[in-house]
Amino acid sequence: MSLLELDDVSITYQLATGELPAVRGVSLTLDAGEALGIVGESGSGKSTLAMALLRLLPRDARIEGRILLEGEDVIGMSWGRLRAVRWAEASIVFQGAQHGLNPVQRIGDQIAEPLLIHRLASPDKARRRVAELLEQVGLPTWRAKSYPHELSGGQRQRVMIAMALACEPRLIIADEPTTALDLMVQAQVLTLIRELIGSHDISLLMISHDLSVLADLCDRLAVMYAGRVVETGPASGLFAHPYSRALAAAFPTVGDPASRLAPQGLGGDPPDPTDLPTGCVFHPRCPVALDSCSTVEIDLRPAGERRTAACVLVGED
Ligand code: ADP
Repeated sequence: MSLLELDDVSITYQLATGELPAVRGVSLTLDAGEALGIVGESGSGKSTLAMALLRLLPRDARIEGRILLEGEDVIGMSWGRLRAVRWAEASIVFQGAQHGLNPVQRIGDQIAEPLLIHRLASPDKARRRVAELLEQVGLPTWRAKSYPHELSGGQRQRVMIAMALACEPRLIIADEPTTALDLMVQAQVLTLIRELIGSHDISLLMISHDLSVLADLCDRLAVMYAGRVVETGPASGLFAHPYSRALAAAFPTVGDPASRLAPQGLGGDPPDPTDLPTGCVFHPRCPVALDSCSTVEIDLRPAGERRTAACVLVGED
């Protein structure tokens, strides 16, 4: 059994002006100990999908399909059961640590909170665990007494990671955890995440618009475009879908001079989800589109070893 299984998940926001399909028929699996990256431009539905995993979406979002966490359907969970699952079985690290932390509560108390809420530790034990967690994320233990504003952006993101680790969950969902940080701090936090998932038995679902960040950290990637997964496959190796290829060119692997010299950046913008093109949603921007692409939508199909892609040009001999 996979740790996480998404089966035909669609998420629609109900706007005053009509419906906005943010995620459309996504099926994905994540095995224990695996790191899966979800990549796509801003607006492709990545955060909506991530929030749905722990039912953190606003009320106006309708979720369809099945989300199974260790075999248990998240969509049908009672609020009581959801509270038990959050932090303890799966936790989320968000992009802006500023928003995730309470500005008037000391760091140590915030890290201890999930432990105390879930009655996983006495106040005394929780204090010791906080010290241990701070050390794990590379912060001095005296930082427990600090308030968020006394820390740098990178340090606050480390605190968020400590909170996410506190209850020893099996799954950590990281939504653009380093995007708000400057490059050097970003690299440090990514190294930290890599070390932590390597040394604990934790699975990672990481979301980013930056393919090079994910390619470095993840075993497998899913590429999203306009609410759909258009490609899945190993993080190393060549992409099959023209959209993934364009993303790879826009975010060349660090240290790869050839791809830096010839970035084939994508022109145009992703489509408005309330007014999607017919056929393949990517066809208006696709450099290799055929006439039929404006009318025929292709499902994910085999595109090489352990790879699938939703493109008419792949998998046909
Ligand atoms: P990403 O994380 O890939 O940037 P999002 O999941 O944030 O994408 O957004 C997907 C689509 O859903 C976008 O068109 C966005 O405008 C819309 N959206 C996101 N959050 C809400 C919301 N709370 N209400 C209505 N629409 C939303």
